[in-house]
Amino acid sequence: MTVTAAVMPAPRVPVELREFPEPALAAGSALLRTLYSEVCGTDVHIWHGRLAGVPYPIIPGHVSVGIAEKIRGELVAVDGRRVVEGDRLVFFDVHRTCGRCRACTVTRTPTRCEARRVYGITDSANEGLFGGWAEKIYLEPGVAVATLPASVPADTYISAGCGLITAVHAIDRAAITLGDTVLVQGTGAVGLSTIALARLAGATRVIAFGAPADRLQLATAMGADTVVDIGRATPAERAVIVRELTGGLGVDVAIEAAGSARAVEEALDLIRDGGRYVIAGHYTDAGTSAINVHQQINRKHLEIRGCWGSEVGHFVRALRVLEQHHAAIPWRAIGARTYALTELNEALADAEAMRLPKALVQPS
Ligand SMILES: [Zn+2]
Ligand SMILES: [Zn+2]
Repeated sequence: MTVTAAVMPAPRVPVELREFPEPALAAGSALLRTLYSEVCGTDVHIWHGRLAGVPYPIIPGHVSVGIAEKIRGELVAVDGRRVVEGDRLVFFDVHRTCGRCRACTVTRTPTRCEARRVYGITDSANEGLFGGWAEKIYLEPGVAVATLPASVPADTYISAGCGLITAVHAIDRAAITLGDTVLVQGTGAVGLSTIALARLAGATRVIAFGAPADRLQLATAMGADTVVDIGRATPAERAVIVRELTGGLGVDVAIEAAGSARAVEEALDLIRDGGRYVIAGHYTDAGTSAINVHQQINRKHLEIRGCWGSEVGHFVRALRVLEQHHAAIPWRAIGARTYALTELNEALADAEAMRLPKALVQPS
């Protein structure tokens, strides 16, 4: 019995289909029949070789949902319930975080653990089915799994996908308080979920900067009060808009989900004195930002926080948020088109050209 998977052999080489043997299951592991995976911005970066430490060839697709087809021994979900074959399963893509190193125990930054591995990103295809662009996914022992809440459709979960989990972390870092005005830079999958979560976290005004037009419509549907097309309004014009909306003060909190060095320079002038800035979009090196530290940080008494990766808790809370709010917040609309395993070069090209907010992958 073999499993078909889409493999990224090396940077800037077309994705190709390969056959893998069905893995022998270790105790406490499972084989998932993939319902959906996704193409996210990170996959485009990996395709271009812009992410360090990727052990090509890889099976991309770091967030996925499927059916537990085979379970070996006992598999317990993060909520303590036992998982059985046939359950709809989701899992946290980060695994092998060691729990013992300095990052895990002393500085309490487990997303910086050196042992940490990520399905679809830092797991090689030479080791097996560690990515979602495949008919089946091997969930090795120790991977954090959860059953998908019964009310949440699988395509809704994957349309929110990694962007929602990242947004939960960014919102934690942003420490939004009731009545805040929040600027979200970027209307990709992370930015769109961040807009919705900022509202849920108590922001009374959310301003979104982004492009193109279809994503700005989605940004409004996700809860943005004001959307600004960065292709039409210049930075100076955007600054005027923010000043007018905030009585000249600037926003309380800004969250960067754009991956642009220019966006960082811009936001520092748009945040009020004593405000907070969370950087979540620079997952790859976008170059240097020119900052006047005196004017833009020190004198403003500004707080700047990075936001790297996510932890199991963000994944679990993303599921709770989806269960409670998926009917009212249009996450499903982010996953605009579904691609088969044979169509993933086209999906990557469409994602890169921003022809759709997110491409979904349906392996069978
Ligand atoms: Zn992703
Ligand atoms: Zn560690």
